[in-house]
Amino acid sequence: MNKYSICMVNVAFINPFSDEARQIVREYGNLNTIYQENGDLIQLVTRSPSQNISDEESIPHNIMDLALKRMEWYIKKKNNPEFDYRKYSYLYNRNITNFDVIAFYLLVQAISVKFGPNSRESRVMVEAQGKLMESRMGELLLSEKREILRTILSTLLPGKVKWTIFADLLSSRKIKLTDLVLDQGNIILDKDYFMENLGYKLEHRDPGKMYDLLIGDKIKELIINRMIMQKTEDYIGEVYQKSQRQVEPNPILLELADKVTEILNQPMATYGYRGGATGKVEASPLNQEAFPPCVKIVLEGMKSGGRNDAIILFLTPFISYARLYPDVFRRNTTLRISDVDPELAAVEKEILPLIHEAAERCTPPLFEDQPQEKVNINAKMGFGMHSEIELKHEGETTWYTPMSCEKVKLHLPSLCKPDKTCKSIGNPLSYYIRRLTDLRYEEATSEEPGEESKQESREE
Ligand code: SF4
Repeated sequence: MNKYSICMVNVAFINPFSDEARQIVREYGNLNTIYQENGDLIQLVTRSPSQNISDEESIPHNIMDLALKRMEWYIKKKNNPEFDYRKYSYLYNRNITNFDVIAFYLLVQAISVKFGPNSRESRVMVEAQGKLMESRMGELLLSEKREILRTILSTLLPGKVKWTIFADLLSSRKIKLTDLVLDQGNIILDKDYFMENLGYKLEHRDPGKMYDLLIGDKIKELIINRMIMQKTEDYIGEVYQKSQRQVEPNPILLELADKVTEILNQPMATYGYRGGATGKVEASPLNQEAFPPCVKIVLEGMKSGGRNDAIILFLTPFISYARLYPDVFRRNTTLRISDVDPELAAVEKEILPLIHEAAERCTPPLFEDQPQEKVNINAKMGFGMHSEIELKHEGETTWYTPMSCEKVKLHLPSLCKPDKTCKSIGNPLSYYIRRLTDLRYEEATSEEPGEESKQESREE
């Protein structure tokens, strides 16, 4: 077998924390070589099945390129509606494992030393690793997948394990308790154990089918994926702690980290939130003139019932999406706030002040009465149940999308005072976009000299 033919899957292809992966790192030479043109890597990439080789830019020439392509793959896949898989087919090629493991460690180290664990870059690195593992598993033959699952599980979860081992995964919601099958507090993954100890309890059901339904490969894959994501997160924290004791970080890592940030900013600049894929709606400072009647009522302060729901469930999602991701309903992508506001500057300086002021204008003022409700506002923007908004908590709760008009009418009927624009929309956010577009059009056309003034200027 030559070195470019398909080989058995190395467990390091899926798990960069395996002994095999650590061995690859130990055997790797000088860090400076990551910039050097690497003929072996280029050959593997260009010979990967279905790889598009017509675009030279999509071919990594060295390990630094490969590390950046790993991040670019994730960002483009997530944001670009015209994402072309064939430009990144080599990332699913098991033969790149040795290079890929080095690229993984380079990325993690660069992000750790430059940004630390509570950064957008760290969060995206962890997500990208999870997605890449998922995609690679999806490309394996069933027999290979089962062998890899068995091998990785035997090292990550040897023997009987209590569900409490997943405390971190459960608290960060990477796994839900309902995903797991438990017997006396132990997590059940093994088929023989399931059949012997639980199978007989399932009356009128085939225990084998129930095992496949409740556990099977799906849950094993999920557990492995989330555990490796958690390990990536923990490793970023460890490297960061160590880097604090060093005098000067390696400039190669700092340069890589800066390039990662550039990639993360690309969606905003290219096809993302400053114009959307269709170039229709921009993330821009709020224009209160374009707010619908229901939002204007809440901003003046709720004087009667529904105060808490109006501020927390209605106003918070509306203001945050209107400011940061106005075309959420047109795009088929789920974002987090830090994807569009990486430093949380708009959240701190524009969004929260507007919501808090509206809360204070209520009768009685919301926080005077119930100061703990600030936590619920943070939770509705995806930052968990915490009194302060911090990146490290992002994702613990969901960034709520704005209520539809139908829901407003049902749950907060006193807010709905429709005007003529309301006739053609189904959500207050759509109202905002419509009015914003109209106002911009009006502004643009009023700036152009009309026929009369053109005439006047010609006569002058
Ligand atoms: S119709 Fe919709 S946008 Fe208009 S006031 Fe009612 S809830 Fe608000």
